[in-house]
Amino acid sequence: MANTFHRPTGPRAEYQEKQRQRVLKSTSLENEFPRLKSLTVKLEYHDSENREKRNRLKYMVNLTNAKSVFRFKCPNSECIRGDFDLTKEVAEAVRKHRTTVTGKMGCRGTTIKKGRCANTLHYTLLLGY
Ligand SMILES: [Zn+2]
Repeated sequence: MANTFHRPTGPRAEYQEKQRQRVLKSTSLENEFPRLKSLTVKLEYHDSENREKRNRLKYMVNLTNAKSVFRFKCPNSECIRGDFDLTKEVAEAVRKHRTTVTGKMGCRGTTIKKGRCANTLHYTLLLGY
């Protein structure tokens, strides 16, 4: 019998699928950081010219459902193997018992046309204990 299960193909889709599996296998934030009671993230994406993009967002993370591998997709649809991984930033913030952490992170992905994807994520983590 033919396998009719559809999988997206191409390097971007393959990478995304791999990361999705990695996230799925990780434990929840609640399990990983029992003393963390709330987490709010504010995100702002900037492109290589440092123009602020419209995609700003702020939300309260559901610690029961969110995974401890804490990552966000790069908004550049041509970007491959990029994305922003705040896993370490969250872990360090909790370890140091910090309530506010702000930072910038450059995307390490590449695009076919322009080479390096130079998107930057500006993030703020607000933590409650
Ligand atoms: Zn990117």
